[in-house]
Amino acid sequence: MTDVPFFRVALDDEEINAVLEVLRSGWLTTGKACQGFEADFADFLGGGVEAVAVNSATAALHLGLEAMGIGPGDEVICPTMTFTATAEVIRYLGADPVFVDCDARTLNISPELVAPAITDRTRAIMPVHFAGLPCDMAGLCDLAQTHGLKILDDAAHALPAKAGNHLIGTAGANATAFSFYANKTMTTGEGGMLVSDDPAILKRARQMRLHGIDRDAFDRFKVGGSWRYDIVAPGYKYNMTDVAAALGRHQLRKAAGFRATRRALVARYDEELKDLPLIRPAHGETDEAHSWHLYIIRLTPEAPMDRDALIAALTQAGIGTSVHYTPLHKMTYWKERYGLGEGDFPNAEAIFGTALSLPLFMDMKQDEQDHVISTLHRLLGGAGQA
Ligand SMILES: *Cc1c(COP(=O)(O)O)cnc(C)c1O
Repeated sequence: MTDVPFFRVALDDEEINAVLEVLRSGWLTTGKACQGFEADFADFLGGGVEAVAVNSATAALHLGLEAMGIGPGDEVICPTMTFTATAEVIRYLGADPVFVDCDARTLNISPELVAPAITDRTRAIMPVHFAGLPCDMAGLCDLAQTHGLKILDDAAHALPAKAGNHLIGTAGANATAFSFYANKTMTTGEGGMLVSDDPAILKRARQMRLHGIDRDAFDRFKVGGSWRYDIVAPGYKYNMTDVAAALGRHQLRKAAGFRATRRALVARYDEELKDLPLIRPAHGETDEAHSWHLYIIRLTPEAPMDRDALIAALTQAGIGTSVHYTPLHKMTYWKERYGLGEGDFPNAEAIFGTALSLPLFMDMKQDEQDHVISTLHRLLGGAGQA
């Protein structure tokens, strides 16, 4: 029997040698590799953005909101259907998240869902491009403009993804955070990137990622650099290491190829699962829209078992799965802090109860995908299925 993990990292000698080169260079932390990675990343996205490398997407989200001046008393709108990092950074700054439900088809927030949540305390909206499918950025930008709000994209799933003709990161948000966590669409082990075309946001984020120092440590330590620096704010320790950046530069070169590989796996799942009692994930408006970070299926009422039983049976067959996500309003902290309960976000609850994410990763082998598909047919296929 083939065991199929939920995810396996795709690295090869290029990444390994690049890391060894850094290890031998005499300089491990933020330096030339980070600068190079930032330049490559900004080039990859285009659209006049600059990139700030940090040690996680959570750090990038925190820096983004901080640079927008979000603070106590402010409200920031975000989905309940997301990972807790999206909302926790709002609390870091003493502001309050206002959760909204997701669209039943796309699993994303939409202008229609966000509009009723806007109050006179609202300062920003945080769209999450769920699973890699872009939100309606044109609609959200219009809404933000009308109400004088900022947009900070949580693009942890969305590299590369396109809203209309624009890659996420250049699609109208004031700033965008990407994740290079180990199981994302490209990785540096741990890492993240904040991108923006707003010089004020970029300047503040660059200072705050390293203790509030008024210029890059790289300048300070390079030959001929001065020992002098000033501290302009109580900043954070969010800088990326050159070890991580060297890995990231090679992963970035493969990002488009990685997406094409996932896209082909998705086409096969779509075709082979179409007769089973499940809802397959929504596609984007164009074939390039979706990054396909996750392939989330939802069981229909006709399915012969529920989601939990299916996960148990797949585990039994050696197949790893995951659930993205338990909505935040069902988590103890968020539920108690904001008095949230069952029934507040009906779409998110219905989706949560029936959804699971199938294995989808860059070096998934045909026999691995065969095993997932044939096991799903065995477990869910009714009369007429082999
Ligand atoms: C992974 C993830 C994050 C956090 O990314 P890190 O790089 O691990 O900090 C934030 N938001 C979403 C939606 C994620 O999936």
